[in-house]
Amino acid sequence: MARYTGANCKLCRRENMKLYLKGERCYKEKCGFERKDYAPGQHGKLRKKLSDFGIQLREKQKTKRIYGVLETQFRRYFAKASSTQGITGDNLFQLLERRLDNVVYRSGFAASRKEARQMVKHEHFTVDGRKVSIPSFLVKPGMVIAVKEVSREHIRIVDSLETAQGRGIPEWILLDKPNFKAEISRMPIREDVKYEIQESLIVELYSK
Ligand code: SF4
Repeated sequence: MARYTGANCKLCRRENMKLYLKGERCYKEKCGFERKDYAPGQHGKLRKKLSDFGIQLREKQKTKRIYGVLETQFRRYFAKASSTQGITGDNLFQLLERRLDNVVYRSGFAASRKEARQMVKHEHFTVDGRKVSIPSFLVKPGMVIAVKEVSREHIRIVDSLETAQGRGIPEWILLDKPNFKAEISRMPIREDVKYEIQESLIVELYSK
């Protein structure tokens, strides 16, 4: 499946906010956005005033980039969110948060979503005791995500668990750190997502 392979820090600079794509580095002085808080490119320092369409587009791009989802898949999530009962923007975030790679990251088993995605593909995790290697797998309340027995000494998983407490585990995930497990206690809600994103603008963009 296609994925973005360019420089992560440029994406934060383009979106004019920290997207936390590089794990621990994002919390340190080395953060690319902390050092250069202007857009990449020759004219990056001259931030242009955006049109309404431009503002809507940036909100969508930000969201896609945070979760590491490409356009086609993002559109599918939007279609599903808008055909489900409730507020489309809230439904959209719920779907994105329920992705297995996001849950692995949020639980603290990986330092970034990108790393989580790779670890899921490399079959380091089980869901309810079954091996799952699909990053877009959607978790549900009651499911238990666990690090496979043979992967519990994996240096990146051990290191991530040590540092993840600092960034906080969301309330809808019950982490059992000694046993390398995380249980989904309830569906994630919009308030669980702390990013400054105006999802109503994404809805407006796709409703044109
Ligand atoms: Fe973004 Fe900073 Fe992390 Fe780079 S280090 S991905 S600029 S938050």
